[in-house]
Amino acid sequence: MPCSTTCAHLSNINLEQALRDRGALLRGHFRLSSGRHSDAFIQKFRVLESPRLVEAVAKDIAGAFRAVKPTIVVSAAVGGIVLGYEVARQLGTDAIFVEKENGAATLRRSFSLTPQDRALVVEDVVTTGLSVREVIDVVRKHGAQVAGVGVIVQRGNADFGVPTHALLNMPLESHDPGDCPQCKAGAPIEDPGSRRN
Ligand SMILES: [Zn+2]
Repeated sequence: MPCSTTCAHLSNINLEQALRDRGALLRGHFRLSSGRHSDAFIQKFRVLESPRLVEAVAKDIAGAFRAVKPTIVVSAAVGGIVLGYEVARQLGTDAIFVEKENGAATLRRSFSLTPQDRALVVEDVVTTGLSVREVIDVVRKHGAQVAGVGVIVQRGNADFGVPTHALLNMPLESHDPGDCPQCKAGAPIEDPGSRRN
């Protein structure tokens, strides 16, 4: 179906521009949570703090999976909660989230999944894919199916073995601290605090 003039669908180019405009896509010299250095960093809350932008990206994700009729949206705390809520609102489902308890990903707050559920897993930025895998594991542990994975920005080439939709593919280029061009050039480094938990 063609987009109408009021359609909030974002093309990849528009999303990348929106990320830049909001300061979500930073260029510089950053120490990532992995310890490696990179010239780019995504400050995802510059997206998640904007209901209008979240609505637009959620529309794209919801549209990609509407045909498989997800029964529930499951995300990972913290950023995923905002995105998951909006995707669920647009699909007409509930939204629940996985969080850590004693270091293990789990459903708390009396959230539940049943074997009849087809869960759509959503995440804001995927780099290693670890948190998405944790959510998938929790969904399957409850006997539910994973209908797919929807993400805003895919930074690596994580393969979750289920249909995956990313609005923007932006491969992460990173360097070992001992082999970083910017360190060799003497550029000061920033620690953007990328650790989510
Ligand atoms: Zn460096």
